[in-house]
Amino acid sequence: MTAPALIIPERSRAVAADLRAKLGSDRVKDDPPTLTAYAVDASIYRMKPKAVVLAESEEDIVTTVRYAAANGIPLTPRAAGTNLTGSAIGSGIILDISRLNRILKVNHEERWARVQPGIVLAELNKQLARDGLLFGPDPSSGEMCKLGGMLANNSSGPHTLRYGAVKDNVLSLRACLVSGTWLDAQLYRVNDPAFERVLTAIPVLRKIFVLVQAHADMIRAKKPTVSKNSCGYNLFSLADGLADGLFNLPKLFVGSEGTLGVISEATVKLVDKPKATLTALIHFRHLQEVGEAVPRLLELEPSALEIMDANTLDLIGRAKHGVPVDAAATLLIELDADSFDVDLRKQAERMAAVCCPFRLASELTLAFDVDRREQLWKARKALYPTLYRYDPRKKPINFVDDVVVRAERISELIHYLETFFKEQQVPVAIFGHIGNGNAHIVPLLDVNDCSDFSKMVQGYHEIHSAVLDRFGGSICGEHGDGRIRAEYVRKMFGEDLYGLFVQVKQAFDPGNILNPGIKISDRPFTDHIDYTRLSKSCATCAKCNAVCPVYDVFQSEDMSSRGWFEIVTANDYSYLNSKRVVEACLNCKSCRTVCPAGVDVSDLILKKRAEHPNRLAGWIFRFQAGGARFDVLLRWLGKTQPLWDRPFVRRLIEWVTKPIMRWLAPTARLPHELVLPRFATKQLRERHADLIPAESDALQSKDIAYFHGCAANYLDDGVGDAVIGVLRKHGVEPALPPQRCSGTPIQTYGHMELVREGAQFNLNSLARYDTVVTGCASCTLMLKDYPALFADGEARRQAEQLAKKVVHITEFVARAPRIPPMAQSIDGTKRVTYHSSCHLRAAGVTREPQKLLALLPGVNFTEMADADRCAGGAGTFIVKDYDTSQHIFARKVRAIEQAGADVVATSCPACMIRLNNGLPEKIEVKHVAQMLHEAYEAGEKNRPREA
Ligand SMILES: Cc1cc2nc3c(=O)[nH]c(=O)nc-3n(C[C@H](O)[C@H](O)[C@H](O)COP(=O)(O)OP(=O)(O)OC[C@H]3O[C@@H](n4cnc5c(N)ncnc54)[C@H](O)[C@@H]3O)c2cc1C
Ligand code: SF4
Ligand code: SF4
Repeated sequence: MTAPALIIPERSRAVAADLRAKLGSDRVKDDPPTLTAYAVDASIYRMKPKAVVLAESEEDIVTTVRYAAANGIPLTPRAAGTNLTGSAIGSGIILDISRLNRILKVNHEERWARVQPGIVLAELNKQLARDGLLFGPDPSSGEMCKLGGMLANNSSGPHTLRYGAVKDNVLSLRACLVSGTWLDAQLYRVNDPAFERVLTAIPVLRKIFVLVQAHADMIRAKKPTVSKNSCGYNLFSLADGLADGLFNLPKLFVGSEGTLGVISEATVKLVDKPKATLTALIHFRHLQEVGEAVPRLLELEPSALEIMDANTLDLIGRAKHGVPVDAAATLLIELDADSFDVDLRKQAERMAAVCCPFRLASELTLAFDVDRREQLWKARKALYPTLYRYDPRKKPINFVDDVVVRAERISELIHYLETFFKEQQVPVAIFGHIGNGNAHIVPLLDVNDCSDFSKMVQGYHEIHSAVLDRFGGSICGEHGDGRIRAEYVRKMFGEDLYGLFVQVKQAFDPGNILNPGIKISDRPFTDHIDYTRLSKSCATCAKCNAVCPVYDVFQSEDMSSRGWFEIVTANDYSYLNSKRVVEACLNCKSCRTVCPAGVDVSDLILKKRAEHPNRLAGWIFRFQAGGARFDVLLRWLGKTQPLWDRPFVRRLIEWVTKPIMRWLAPTARLPHELVLPRFATKQLRERHADLIPAESDALQSKDIAYFHGCAANYLDDGVGDAVIGVLRKHGVEPALPPQRCSGTPIQTYGHMELVREGAQFNLNSLARYDTVVTGCASCTLMLKDYPALFADGEARRQAEQLAKKVVHITEFVARAPRIPPMAQSIDGTKRVTYHSSCHLRAAGVTREPQKLLALLPGVNFTEMADADRCAGGAGTFIVKDYDTSQHIFARKVRAIEQAGADVVATSCPACMIRLNNGLPEKIEVKHVAQMLHEAYEAGEKNRPREA
């Protein structure tokens, strides 16, 4: 069954136009950047669609499905696009369900939830966790993948051992069939009159029922005997159910990869979150002993049991992850405690006893607390994209990535694979869910090289054949068949059962409209491989999308970090075509912080902006760089602020400046409702003039400088004084050397020459100090990033020196040998939470501010959910696109309110401006330095005076 050539070329633009007329222009896109962004998922394939629909309701789904069916246009449902098989790309319409992302109902007593398909798994579980509940299946992509994709792929993950795959956790679901009929798929008793009514109402179901009844014996005989399988349609559960008088319809749709219907919601089973968890690493010196250890470790009833083979450990870097050089394989094992009575330390002792007979490369690594456990999981979860760093040409290629054998034969399988790839001279990573016998095999190849390409084709056939014939396994445990395994589904199940699969597909979708080319197709797996992309640095894993604040708001791939990588690196990229998206990035750097492949999308975007620097911003920043006159202007603004910072005048200012602000961006304005910080009438450098070194002092000084940046100098926000105050309490009189803007805002408007000019000024000015303390997250990052501005030469050397000397004030205090006395600065305890500034995270400062806050007397520190998410300020972004900034901020407000905070502390003056706009009045916003300073001041006051 192959996809018919359905689209007549001249109608391609008409598809979007037709859909726009039906759904509205905000839900349909077909501009070049959008189509480029949607041409990829996390697989090795590329296929450009004709139009993208961003569904916001069931009506949108049914309208799109009916239109596609009536016009014979392929339709591909899509969630997060993290599948590894090419199943979320297509040549016709992409129906993105990401905006349908609500939890509709949670029943705590009966432990189930009704959920829309666009919700991200991590988000679902974060919300459920408040009630101690959990949706069990946990693909390693859980930070980014969405329920719709999980349902359609029958996803599972490390904890399948305990919770099963998605198919084991779905009670019912609702799907739009190609006829435009809605099907409420649930478990039916075949003798229930309700079942007969459904069969009559939806005739295709009768066909399926009759088909399964007629062939139940054959289906059961062909059922895979391994513990996991996502290959083919799940007729096995239907046939098994019939033996008990049941017809379990959801099981057919789970794993059907969008080829039978579009799911609009599902009712899923929930479980109690474990009360405590132990995670451990076990390093084996001999691979064959792993096979012996697995059955014994399984007796401990672990919730997860994962393996990484020797090659994988080499590829991700043993030293970096503390893996002994002689480890032949590492197991990651996790045990859950369902009640507080379970003693996990005793379990750890039992585990050590189980491992005793085996030759281990080191002691067991045990982790009980969340941070440490997450650390142990980190390398495993990001394994596949991390492999992208290994070689500029050889990339991890998923084409035999998901085989399953019986768990006790996994060592044998690994040995076979290692020998196979050794003969091919191909580096390979083998890892996976050993407890289920599910191995992920990821060879590193340059598919643009003929020899490597042949090795891929040979490996595809030989390994899949061996898994089926020699190991009696399955070619697909959890990733789905997609384009990659479609060719092999027939071989796995044989003609008869494959014939039934084809009949199922034809019954539901006679025109082959829904996701053609997926699961049921004879096309070779090499069709549509994206050779160009496979030579690039991005793994298209979408991890960055999960933290991109713009994606969070728009839920559209063209407004996302991964999408932007595709757009700005495309051969046909043009700024004119793509300005809308290139200018939408906040430069928050969250993508860079999380990318396992080491890609910096924000930097790529900044480079594209640098090709078209913004003129208005250029004038402003040049004026600022001029120094004195800019200072005078800001001082004057400070003095006159009581006059102009009033509602009526602010409205007037907004109106008058609107045409000018357009030069910055079409969305830019000076919103009258924006609460402005107070401009300083006496700037920080004037207030602390005694700290400004004279030329001669500066030359001699070898001490500590404070790089205050723009905000702390020009604004009356208390940050600069607090940083100086804190340093003084630590016995430091910081110098305030001459300085220019660190460059972050200038860079975001594309003026790289001006950035370099300012950087050179700062490098000269700061060169003579041993330590440079900052109070601003963006300045911290920018100063540390200066080396990237200079290719080589003296400036580069200076920049590298400076990068080593820069410390944020929270790092400085956390590293101090002695903390000055502290006391409670206010009456009563305050609940304080922390908003983690993106640029400080990107600079590698994450835990210090929180640790310090937790130390403060009178502070009840509460970690905020979403602490790491951008608040939407991002320097001048709040002015460049106020409305988007507000949408981004809405999530932060919810998190702060849920934390029940009286005070939100942060580490960046720019974030403070954002936080001061839109939080309930009772919530104070403070810099960590301010809170420290208050505690030190109180500590000093309380100190008993010497007689
Ligand atoms: C780094 C990394 C690690 C991974 N680890 C795992 C793992 O441990 N276990 C695992 O199982 N998978 C894993 N995957 C694969 C992938 O993340 C999962 O298959 C995931 O569930 C796909 O979800 P998605 O939201 O990205 O779906 P998409 O990729 O958008 O879509 C997947 C399929 O679902 C269909 N679909 C989406 N929404 C609907 C809908 N509403 N109705 C009908 N069909 C729909 C699509 O058409 C497509 O066929 C990993 C991927 C990556 C990149
Ligand atoms: S930029 Fe990095 S995180 Fe984003 S999709 Fe590419 S590899 Fe994944
Ligand atoms: S810098 Fe921020 S807004 Fe820009 S792509 Fe990265 S995560 Fe998204």
